[in-house]
Order: sequence, then structure tokens, then C-alpha cells
Amino acid sequence: MSSDTNIATVDRYGNIYGVAAGECTVTVTSTSNSAVYAEVKVKVKAEVTELTYIDGILIANKTYALPKTYAPGWNTEGAAQLNVMFAAAQTEGIYLKMQSGYRSYTDQYIIYNDYVARDGQAAADRYSARPGHSEHQTGLAFDLTTTYYNGLWEGFADTPEGKWVAENCHKYGFIIRYPKEKEHITGYMYEPWHVRYIGVEKATAVYESGLCLEEYLNITSSYS
Ligand SMILES: [Zn+2]
Repeated sequence: MSSDTNIATVDRYGNIYGVAAGECTVTVTSTSNSAVYAEVKVKVKAEVTELTYIDGILIANKTYALPKTYAPGWNTEGAAQLNVMFAAAQTEGIYLKMQSGYRSYTDQYIIYNDYVARDGQAAADRYSARPGHSEHQTGLAFDLTTTYYNGLWEGFADTPEGKWVAENCHKYGFIIRYPKEKEHITGYMYEPWHVRYIGVEKATAVYESGLCLEEYLNITSSYS
């Protein structure tokens, strides 16, 4: 039974269902022995309904989620700047391509749950966002690789392409979103391939600060 059925209910099999945001206690009693029971503290989080902008930058990290229904598709300005950057790189003998970009809430739900099934949640949370928390859902994040390799790997940082991106992407409005040795702040492992479009002026300021975006904006990134 539930201490507050306006918040959560429980069926005869012990399955718990959220009704509205709040906290309550659910008690499940053994059908064979009423002296055996479990008391479970249940927290139902409020559904995210609004976008969070800080200093004009749309935030999607472990603290700030996007609404489930937010589905902007590819950001046209970001995608156009990516092409400008690729063309500029090519004139210097740097061969970049995009491996992935926009992902819907549902796409992320499927991907994340596959990783959890494979590696467990703690490990998955280091490299994959929970649905609603992925920057790819903003349409402003892109995963890059070289034209001669398919896939995303940490060694990208040591390729001519990876080095070029780290040194130049801010000139086109991008930042390396999950820099090396910032996992305790961004909440994600080093991803030299993941760039986020925030515009040239802001990207240049972040690049010159040497800070990751969370430090630069003085915000957290952790699941509550
Ligand atoms: Zn990515």
C-alpha cells in the first residue's frame, strides 16, 4: 500500500507507479507471511517542462534536463558552421567528418538503456547521458571523426584531425565539451570528438579561459 496514492501507487505484484511529483512511502507485504514486509521510500520527480539557458547557452547536462518533448532537430546554424569548419580544415590537409549529431529523446532512451544492460548503470553514466540529459537532443552537439576512420575513440585526440579540432574549433563556434581531466566536473569521460556549438564569441571565451563549460558558467553536472 502507499502512504499517498496522489504521489505513487503500488499493485499487488509490488510494481510502483508514479502519479505526481512528491515523496511517499510504499509498503509491500509478503503474501505468505504478513510479518515480512518492505517499506520503500518513493520519490517522483517533476517532469521537466522548460529549457534552461545560462548566459544565453542552452544547458543539457546531468543537473539540467531537456523536456521529453523537445525535438528541435539539427540546428541549422551549428550544422552550417560545421561545414565551414570542415572546409577550412581540408585546406590544411585535415580530413574531418561528422559521425553523429541530433538525437531525439527516444533515440537516447534506447541507446542509454542498451549501455546500461551491457555495462551497468554506474559505468554507462560515465559515457552516456540518461534520456533528456543528452546534449545531442539540443541539435547543437556533434561527434567528429576522421574521414579515414569510422568510429569515436579517445585516440582521435592524437590524430592530426583531433589536434586541429582542439586548437581551432572555437574559431567556428564550437567547444570540446568534455575535456580531459574534467570528468569530476562535467560528469563525463574525456570525449575529444564531441563538440558543442555555442557561437564564435562564447566559444572563444571558453577556449581562452581553459575551463570546461560547467566551470565557465559556474554550474554543476550531477544527477540528484
Ligand atoms: Zn557526443
